[in-house]
Amino acid sequence: MEANSSGEDCCVKVAVLIRPLIGDEKLQGCKDCVSVVPGKPQMQIGSHSFTFDHVYGSSGSSSSAMYDECVAPLADSLFQGYNATVLAYGQTGSGKTYTMGTSLKGGCQTGLIPKVMNSLFGKIETLKHEIEFQLHVSFIEIHKEEVRDLLDPISANRQETANGHAGKATIPGKPPIQIRETSNGIITLPGSTECSVKTLKEMADCLEQGSLSRATGSTNMNNQSSRSHAIFTITMEQMRKLHPGTSINGNLNNCMTEEYLCAKLHLVDLAGSERAKRTGSDGLRFKEGVHINKGLLALGNVISALGDEKKRKEGIHVPYRDSKLTRLLQDSLGGNSRTVMIACISPADINAEETLNTLKYANRAR
Ligand code: ADP
Ligand code: MG
Repeated sequence: MEANSSGEDCCVKVAVLIRPLIGDEKLQGCKDCVSVVPGKPQMQIGSHSFTFDHVYGSSGSSSSAMYDECVAPLADSLFQGYNATVLAYGQTGSGKTYTMGTSLKGGCQTGLIPKVMNSLFGKIETLKHEIEFQLHVSFIEIHKEEVRDLLDPISANRQETANGHAGKATIPGKPPIQIRETSNGIITLPGSTECSVKTLKEMADCLEQGSLSRATGSTNMNNQSSRSHAIFTITMEQMRKLHPGTSINGNLNNCMTEEYLCAKLHLVDLAGSERAKRTGSDGLRFKEGVHINKGLLALGNVISALGDEKKRKEGIHVPYRDSKLTRLLQDSLGGNSRTVMIACISPADINAEETLNTLKYANRAR
């Protein structure tokens, strides 16, 4: 068989990450119902087998292998000026927040986002003599199709009223955050906080502050954070000074010029993929479920349209506008940008049905 070239030009890669059985599952006597084919990106659950770009089992080295293989290339591509997106998908409890590193446990020390930050600052250190860097961070949450600014203490804290229901979306004097597209196709979020950061510590503080406001923004943390998408975005601007006599394309050039690049990396902890439960039977919860599904549904449709080379060549319509999530990610999904979807799963037999749903969704994204 010829070397598989499809992985090279496909802009979306899909990895599956199987977390270990956790305490609760062990206490309930759960069995591990997922198996990985050794040495291959293949796995089985019941009679179903799946092949992805990568499959990571629960061994200790998996998380560093996953970073090196799936995420480091995206962090590096920022330096070439390419936008990128990392998506953590899966049911509530499957390990999305743990994997991204937006959990407050361990003070945000582990997980992909802290690794990305370390790697960026390491590389900037080696390049800063030739290139001037400017970094910005934003951290927002999309809940019920509304954007909430996790780095703005006022906006982040206004959510809950005394009865635990979400408060009104707008605060007097502060317009809701809009998603806009500039004439050259760049998506912006006017009104959201963009923190300018100079050091690793400052960036880590933003991650921690936003994670904290995500956790405390609701009296029922599980409910809200499992129903919302959290998006941590790092924007990197580079100004390379070019001396007289050289230019980017090697032509002689008499004046001092500058090369400018700007790219962003979105790190997304998606809402729980489990089906909305109607059992609450209160209108509010049902509405939330509908909206969450809207984002994940739209994302599935967008990624599937992007991954279908035949459709892409025919210039098929990619339905970015169907949800806030896909609209926000529009300039960083498809085109020249790179995307990795990490499908997080629990190995426990009690979760087998949701795990299968996750694998089917991830499979469709390939
Ligand atoms: P989600 O964000 O998908 O709802 P969490 O990230 O909160 O899930 O993880 C659920 C539980 O599983 C947490 O207690 C977390 O510490 C644990 N967990 C997740 N991934 C791992 C892992 N790779 N190793 C050990 N524990 C994990
Ligand atoms: Mg979570």
